[in-house]
Amino acid sequence: MAKLVLGCIADDFTGATDLANNLVRAGMRVVQAIGVPQASARPLGGQRGHEVPSVGAELPPLDADVDAVVVALKSRTIAPAEAVAQSLAALRWLQAQGAQQIYFKYCSTFDSTPQGNIGPVTEALMDALNCDFTIATPAFPDNKRTVFKGYLFAGDVLLNESGMQNHPLTPMTDPNLVRVLQAQCTRKVGLIDYAVVARGAAAIDERIAQLKAEGVAIAIVDAVSNYDLLSMGPALAKMPLVTAGSGVAIGLPANFGLAPSSQASALPKAGGRTAVVSGSCSLATNRQVQDFIQRGGAAMAIDPLRIAQGVDVATEVLAWAAPLIDKGPVLVYSTADAGAVKSVQGKLGVEEAGALVERTIAAIARGLVERGVRQLVVAGGETSGACVQALGIAQMQIGPQIDPGVPWCHARSDAAPETGLHIALKSGNFGSDDFFTKAFAVLG
Ligand code: ADP
Repeated sequence: MAKLVLGCIADDFTGATDLANNLVRAGMRVVQAIGVPQASARPLGGQRGHEVPSVGAELPPLDADVDAVVVALKSRTIAPAEAVAQSLAALRWLQAQGAQQIYFKYCSTFDSTPQGNIGPVTEALMDALNCDFTIATPAFPDNKRTVFKGYLFAGDVLLNESGMQNHPLTPMTDPNLVRVLQAQCTRKVGLIDYAVVARGAAAIDERIAQLKAEGVAIAIVDAVSNYDLLSMGPALAKMPLVTAGSGVAIGLPANFGLAPSSQASALPKAGGRTAVVSGSCSLATNRQVQDFIQRGGAAMAIDPLRIAQGVDVATEVLAWAAPLIDKGPVLVYSTADAGAVKSVQGKLGVEEAGALVERTIAAIARGLVERGVRQLVVAGGETSGACVQALGIAQMQIGPQIDPGVPWCHARSDAAPETGLHIALKSGNFGSDDFFTKAFAVLG
């Protein structure tokens, strides 16, 4: 069995990659598992869903020699009881692999409702781990998320002025995280404030003892810089459970004697053909598509209305790409500006348009890999989920970072049975304008 030290449970897919990326940069070798590994699934290249394995079901062993595993769930906005069940299933599997410490990862904007799911999942994990005290902090200064006096800032404004107050699923109208988390918890929630954090690990230890004596079981921790996150690290060494955004991860590898090294991000040698598929319509992705085209890259747009008319767009695209993929990266995109997307959604419906495009791009991604593409960039969070599923990817080894939050990964896939493939999953707003060109240079 691999020597797993840190077992992580992430409440969404691109958030899992973000955490894995931070751990790799801090010196850990990391794989991301897509859902809880299932005994019934094929160990490599099989499709694994997000079902919860029954208690007592055989737990498949970890198939990699790594320091940390991040199990990617999709539990952020589902019913609390279901989020708890999935998280406990992930915990059981991580414990079976020997994980010494558990990290529950949520969004750096603390996305949740008064029902959860951060509070209920945290308390269920505390119960299961017999853990009498843990922390909760979404601080991620590299991404402009800071916590001061328990108040969460996104950039220069409080959370409830950042646009998150209008989020369709998890509107965040209160920036005070002690209050927000207390509303979701039966245990008492407290605060380790900046005056303590600034004095380092010993002061944090002292404050934890004081909070425990006051009956507090979960503490929001202030952090406004990476220095704060690093000085928090030693105080977390003995906690069976840490709950946080991805920022706190940078202080943990040192507790296990691990330091940043290029070895942590080493992947098998890259080869084969190169391609980008993009279903993201974010502003950043629109710029990235334009940049690729302006540089003279071979690109083909997909029209959702033609897919809806029953045209076999995937076959058309693969025929177009066949003579081009030997010459350099090809780009296939449905990326469009807000006006065009609205018009398509008006005709097809939001869900139907999204599902049609995701299915088509996923089929194209699989077709490209079957035709020899071994370095694939996917743009779009939902689009990434669809492509990973179509490629039968169950786990990904995390490699070097292309841009903050987006690493190259290596995965086995039954579409690339001998070598597997390198894949980068870019969530909408991440990445510089030249991302689709730069990504391949990073691997090269
Ligand atoms: P992001 O990470 O930018 O949010 P996602 O892939 O998560 O990207 O979401 C984009 C959604 O928009 C997907 O469901 C995708 O299928 C859909 N979509 C992509 N292109 C179009 C388009 N031209 N018209 C309508 N919907 C589209």
